[in-house]
Amino acid sequence: MTSGQRAGLARAITLVESARAEHRAKASALVQELMPRTGGAIRIGITGVPGVGKSTLIDALGMMLIEAGHRVAVLAIDPSSTRTGGAILGDKTRMARLANSPDAFIRPSPSAGSLGGVTARTREALLLVEAAGYSVVIVETVGVGQSEVAVAEMVDTFVALMLPGAGDELQGIKKGLIERADIIAVNKADGSARDAARQAAAELLSAVKILASDPPPEVLTMSAATGDGLDLLWRTIDTHRNGLEASGALAARRRAQGVIWMRDMVADGLRHYLAQHAGDAVKAMEAAVADGTLAPSAAAASILETLP
Ligand code: GDP
Repeated sequence: MTSGQRAGLARAITLVESARAEHRAKASALVQELMPRTGGAIRIGITGVPGVGKSTLIDALGMMLIEAGHRVAVLAIDPSSTRTGGAILGDKTRMARLANSPDAFIRPSPSAGSLGGVTARTREALLLVEAAGYSVVIVETVGVGQSEVAVAEMVDTFVALMLPGAGDELQGIKKGLIERADIIAVNKADGSARDAARQAAAELLSAVKILASDPPPEVLTMSAATGDGLDLLWRTIDTHRNGLEASGALAARRRAQGVIWMRDMVADGLRHYLAQHAGDAVKAMEAAVADGTLAPSAAAASILETLP
C-alpha cells in the first residue's frame, strides 16, 4: 500500500471516529458502501495486563505474518484513553518494526467518548482496514473486564496473554477470562522464567478443564522476546479459525456479533439523544435517585417518556 493510500485510510478512520453529526452520517454511508468489501480478514483479539508483552508480541507476530505475505492492521481499545485522552495502546514506538513496515497499519485507540463509543468506532475502523485489503487485523486491549468483552465480541479468535507466576492464573479465572478466551498464552517463557511459565501453563490447563466452556481454550507457553513458541501460537490461531470456518461457526459468530453491535449502537444513540434533548431532565432524575426521593424505575420511566 502506498503512503498516499495509507493516509487516505487514516483520514477515513478519523471520519468514523468523529462525534460530529454530519461526520457520523458520512461515516455510516461510507461503512455501508464498503460493506461488500469487508469480512475477509483474520480478526484476532489480544488482551493482557500492562507489561505482559502485548506490543512485543504484536510486533513479532505482525512481522512474521508480513514475511508470510500478509498485510497486518493493528487497532487498539484502551479504556483509560476515554479518561486521559492518551493512547497507551497501539503506540507506534512500542511496535518499532511494524511501524516502519509498508505492509502494516497501526491505529491507536480512539480517545473520545465512552467505552461504548470507543468500541463502536473501533468496529468501524476494523471494517475500513478490511476494505483497504488488510488480511489480518489485530485488536489490542488491556486486561480490564469491559474492554475485554468488547474485543472478544469483535474478533474471530481471542488470545489472553498471561505472565508466569504472579497469581495471574487465578486472576484470569476470577475475571471469567477463561470462558471468553480461545487461546491462553503464558508469555515470557524464557531464561530463568521458563519453568515458572510451564508450571503456570499446567495450572491453567487444569483450571480450564474444570471451568471449561465448550470447547476449552488452548493453553501454551511462548516468548514474544525470543520468538520461541510464536510459530505455535500462530498455528493455534489458524487452527482455531479454520475450525470455526469449516463448521460454519465463524459465519454464525460474526452474524451474532453484528446484532450485538447494532444493539450497542442503539443504546449509544439513545444515550446521545437523551443527553442532547433531555439533558436537564436526565440530570434532575439522577439527582432525585441519588438523594433517594425517587425510585430508579420511576425515574427511568419518566426519562423514557421524553422520547418522541
Ligand atoms: P505490554 O504493556 O503488554 O504491551 O508489554 P510490552 O510488550 O511493552 O512488554 C513489557 C516489557 O516486557 C518490555 O520490557 C518487554 O521487553 C518485556 N517483554 C515482552 N515480552 C517478553 C518476553 O517474551 N520475555 C521477556 N523476558 N521479556 C518480555
